[in-house]
Amino acid sequence: MSSELEVPTTEYRLPTTLPTTDYGLRTTDYGDEPPDSPTLAEAARRWSSAYVHIPFCARRCPYCDFAVVASDEAGGLDTGRYVDGLIVEIGMEPDPSAVDAINFGGGTPTRLRPDDLARIVGAIESRIGIADGAEISIEANPEDWTIAFARDLREVGFNRVSFGVQSFDPVVLAALGRVHSSRDAERAFDAARRAGFTNVSIDLIYGTPEESDESWRRTVARAIALEPAHLSAYALTVEGGTALSRAVLDGAPGPDPDDQADRYEYLDDALRSAGFVRYEVSNWARPGYSCRYNLSTWMMGEFSAFGTGAHDHRGGVRARNIRRLDTYLDRIESGVRPRAGSECLGEFESERERFMVGLRLASGVAPGSIGGPFVTSDEGHRLLDAAVIDVRDGRVVVLKPLLTDLVARSVLSVSADDC
Ligand code: SF4
Repeated sequence: MSSELEVPTTEYRLPTTLPTTDYGLRTTDYGDEPPDSPTLAEAARRWSSAYVHIPFCARRCPYCDFAVVASDEAGGLDTGRYVDGLIVEIGMEPDPSAVDAINFGGGTPTRLRPDDLARIVGAIESRIGIADGAEISIEANPEDWTIAFARDLREVGFNRVSFGVQSFDPVVLAALGRVHSSRDAERAFDAARRAGFTNVSIDLIYGTPEESDESWRRTVARAIALEPAHLSAYALTVEGGTALSRAVLDGAPGPDPDDQADRYEYLDDALRSAGFVRYEVSNWARPGYSCRYNLSTWMMGEFSAFGTGAHDHRGGVRARNIRRLDTYLDRIESGVRPRAGSECLGEFESERERFMVGLRLASGVAPGSIGGPFVTSDEGHRLLDAAVIDVRDGRVVVLKPLLTDLVARSVLSVSADDC
């Protein structure tokens, strides 16, 4: 089939190849680009990043299905052995190239001591390399965070922290099984700032059944009052196999999608009024503070990942690690990469994934070979006519972010023969 687009108006005419301009951006020199800038997004395609998974948590939150072990579960306190394993795994990286961003996620990375975190950063530096000005970010739970800890992390080289605040309402925090208070969150935020972190992010969860409109408004107001550089917000979801899903199956109320949509729109309006820019469905930033690691992964940049259950993407191969802590450690200690599986993405699958994930960005996504057939398909026309998507400056943009998953699913109707 021809790649030439047959579109009804020039308004929807798309380039069929990706831009090849060298935007000349490095991670250190894009500070003036707005978070939703297409230029910034395309630069992120060329960034390389690393993810380090720290699976330890004080206890398991009822809604969580991540690869974690709680302190009262087998291996839940074996942090030193795990750090040793991570360092061995980093040493096994077959194709090292200096990273522009590192993200420590979990689990709860702040369960590790600063000297253990320093050993891991040091291993990445010596095996892979860290670009000048790279973002080195850590996810933190407020209850672990003190000013001394924050200063130690600055010494290690961390320059971004993302606090799992979730809510400022004690009723909601209790329902989510969180052990910190709203005051803990404010104290942690203040300690981060006093230790020299300017790039501080807050994570919120909306739509817990125990949350009211008024409770959400207060949470949003308190989050904005802290003046974070960045904010992420996710709807509470009921994942199979969690304590929350068992409770809902037993008759407890679950999240209400209409309430969640209202909360999302309230948050988006409030953040825009406060000077934030939404640059992805669930992420807002002040200019200069979009998360480089996230941008890099959404733009299908190359990323390595280490630790239990971690996923990486390098050279067209997507791979995932073993989730179980004991099996992961056994494998590493036998000198074997702890892979659970990998898949080599073909050209069409890779391009389709790039396009589907890119739809999450407010900057839109360059059409490549998929965008044209999608926009000109019957489903594409329906979405255009309903003002769910648009084509702006040659990029496909989702105008109604809450419908992004629906739009992405529609892309699956495009086959390789259409491109
Ligand atoms: S702290 Fe985070 S990673 Fe750990 S159990 Fe709770 S939600 Fe999951």
